[in-house]
Amino acid sequence: MTLRDTVIEIDLKALAHNMDAIRAMVGKEVAVMPVIKANAYGLGAVGVAPTLIAHGARYLAVATLSEAMELRTAYPDAPLFILGHTPDRLLPVVVKNSITQTIFTAAQAKAISDAAAGLGAKAKVHLKVDTGFHRLGTDNIEELFAICQTPNIDVEGIFSHLALVNEEEDEKQFAMFQSIVKELEARGIRFKYKHITDSISAVDYPRFRLSMVRPGALVYGLRGFHKGYIDVKQAVTFKTRISQLHKVKTGEGVGYDYLWRAQRDSIIATLPFGYADGYPRNMRDKGYVTIHGIKCPLVGVLCMDQCMADVTDVPNVKEADEAIIYGTGENNTMDIAEAAALAGTNKNEIVARLMARPPRVYMS
Ligand SMILES: *Cc1c(COP(=O)(O)O)cnc(C)c1O
Repeated sequence: MTLRDTVIEIDLKALAHNMDAIRAMVGKEVAVMPVIKANAYGLGAVGVAPTLIAHGARYLAVATLSEAMELRTAYPDAPLFILGHTPDRLLPVVVKNSITQTIFTAAQAKAISDAAAGLGAKAKVHLKVDTGFHRLGTDNIEELFAICQTPNIDVEGIFSHLALVNEEEDEKQFAMFQSIVKELEARGIRFKYKHITDSISAVDYPRFRLSMVRPGALVYGLRGFHKGYIDVKQAVTFKTRISQLHKVKTGEGVGYDYLWRAQRDSIIATLPFGYADGYPRNMRDKGYVTIHGIKCPLVGVLCMDQCMADVTDVPNVKEADEAIIYGTGENNTMDIAEAAALAGTNKNEIVARLMARPPRVYMS
């Protein structure tokens, strides 16, 4: 039973469609590793994982060990990959739970090797190459080669990440990655997986797909590509229902500090979502919800748990009527891209914020 009217609805059919479309785009030779960090960008990692696996995910990628462990507890056999840094002291947990780990120093290799030896296991790792982003990774060939020589580890892959500055910089990063891979291969190292593309670059640069792609936003139907094209569907809808209606007379205020005052006799709907649900507080004066296909502007300041909308122009509006907060853009709803533009942020942040409080409902 869902205990609130404010819910994040996830369309698993859209998610399946997006995975299928990505696999068709990259072809059979390229593995797809959907990124489900930050609780699957707010959609719920445990909830979306089975659909992604059923539709050909080679790995499920997360940012942290804590995220990996949530999935490991729910899915003992799922192939899991940590894109981020795991502190040396926690590497035994990684090995014990058969999680593939990103590493980039010989010291980490030694630590994970020792952990593997202690468990009588082999640790699976991917090398992270810094090609300019300067977030994680190294461009030191000797260091990367030393990692490959470490016992008890299987260096299954090598990867890097693009800063997406412009085409020229992207090409430079790609060329640098390729030359480091070549140098290691010349020394006899073989990598099963080489990867550098996220959602945008996987669509825009077919040449950069190598043997694996790492789409996040694209899997959820958030489009950011420029040169290429893929038909993905937004998988998330954020919706609620009207808690109460108020008749407000011309000149009366609404909300904290009466920052909004009625210019006409109005009907104001109270809605049970606020900034603690992940809705940007700066959407005041810009945001709207859609009720019966009509855009209803938010009025007054957004509260932590509630907000108010002007529903004067909605015929026959009633308490408990559905209000779409973020829709697919159809039927006058605000899609994630519009929300991002209005809030002055990117699409990923809009959905990732939703991880805060609202329950998730999965539709299949
Ligand atoms: C988050 C992340 C991705 C996915 O990014 P999108 O832009 O959502 O596709 C891919 N690779 C790495 C290393 C990441 O951290």
